[in-house]
Formats: sequence, C-alpha cells, structure tokens
Amino acid sequence: MSRWTEIGDRVFVRRYAFFDQNIGAVLGPGAVMVIDTRSTHVQAREILDDLRELTADPVTVAVDTHGHFDHAWGNHVFRPAPIWGHARCVTFMERTAEVRRERIAREEPELAADLPEVVIDPPDRVFDETGNPEVGGRRVELKFLGRGHTDHDIVVRVPDANVLFAGDLLENGSVPFFGDGYPLDWPETALRVAELSTGVVVPGHGDHAGAAFADEQAGSLLRLAELARRVHRGEMTVDDAVAATPFPAYPAEDVRRPILRALEQLRGELD
Ligand SMILES: [Zn+2]
Repeated sequence: MSRWTEIGDRVFVRRYAFFDQNIGAVLGPGAVMVIDTRSTHVQAREILDDLRELTADPVTVAVDTHGHFDHAWGNHVFRPAPIWGHARCVTFMERTAEVRRERIAREEPELAADLPEVVIDPPDRVFDETGNPEVGGRRVELKFLGRGHTDHDIVVRVPDANVLFAGDLLENGSVPFFGDGYPLDWPETALRVAELSTGVVVPGHGDHAGAAFADEQAGSLLRLAELARRVHRGEMTVDDAVAATPFPAYPAEDVRRPILRALEQLRGELD
C-alpha cells in the first residue's frame, strides 16, 4: 500500500503503483502544492483523497514537470488552482494529447475506460526559464535546465527543505524513457540537475535518492550519447553499443531504442 513519506519539512512524496510514479506535495500555511497530476481524473482524485491524510487544506497550486500523460492528464481535477509548467508543455500537450489518447488506451488497458473522459487541461501559468509559485507564502522555484526527457522538462526546488523534484529527467528503477527525448542534450541538462541535487532528489519514477544518484545518472546519459556518436562515426555497430550499455543494472536491450533515438538526433531528424 502506498503512503506519504516526508522527505523534508512539510514536503512529501507518494509512490503510486501505476508506473511506479512519484507524486509530490508541498504544504504551506492553508495551502497545498501538488507536483504532477497522474494520468486521468480517476487517478488525480485518488491524490486528492490521499492528501486528506496530510491536511484539510485545499490544493492551491499544481505543477506539471512535463506534459506526458502520466504527469499532466489529471490536471483538470485540481482546478480552479493555477497550474504551472513550461510554455512548451502547453504546445506539447496540445500537439500530442488527442493523438495519444487512443494509443495509450490500447497500451494501458487499466486506463482505457477512463481515458475518453479525460479533460486535457494544460498549464495556465507558464514560463521559459524560471517560475516562482508560492504555497501559502512558502517559496518554490521552478527551473528549465535544458532539453532532456522532453523539450520542456522542469525541476521543482523547495529551497527551505533542500528537496528537488527532477521529474523524468531522472528515473530510478529502469532506463529513462527516450521516446520524446533529446539524447545529445540530456547529459548536460542532467548535470545541471545533479548540481542542484544537494539534498533529497525525487525522480519521476522509482526510489527517491541523493546527489550520488543524480551524478551517476548524468554519467550514464553521457555515456549513452558517446556510444551513439561512435556508432554514428562508424566505429561500432548498434548491437555493440547496446552490449556496452551504460545502464548495466537493466537489460542491455533496453538501451537499443534510446541509442536509435540519439542516432536520429545526430542525423538532424529531431528538429
Ligand atoms: Zn515522462
């Protein structure tokens, strides 16, 4: 059974079994911030119910770390609260949501019945570099650190608790998802995440951790980009690169698609 874990003063994370996902909650005087909203209105209402274990205060602000369905399709349940996100999160959701609704229903049968009812409701408080929402006067920093898992991932820093929510720029428990990613930009972005990870760092999925995890993941992302560059230069085959996986804790095959995605970026096919 999942439960809230306090990882800093009035900063909580809850692991949901679906996608082994982390949802954050920051409490302020009379106010609550939710970090990521899960996949559907049904899942989002579960967050609201679970928050009652922590406080009777209303959710006054929500943040989308990025526009993937499992992070942002529960948004509508939290209205009228403002929802913060990167400006490109809005365009990403507008561009991809309707195309993906059907595909996700096929791929995730447990969501299929609810997906037709999901109201796609992108962030309305947007920024390009930095956002400064408040939770009842408590300051939270939002930062865009560069392209990585998508072109619009942001991190959420709670300075007075030294906690960093990294969204899917970091993933614990599997190879990160590269389907919308920018594999050549991601290592540098992850290094910036690591620099900000001076306390507890919460990846989008899997166990929360500390600075060493962020450093290690940045290193793996860098090695993946280097392997792809060597394939691109004809110095090794894709199979060789897969066999040399920079994520040795997981099956080597799991890096094949990420390497192919990096090759697409090297060939200039991503933008
Ligand atoms: Zn994602």
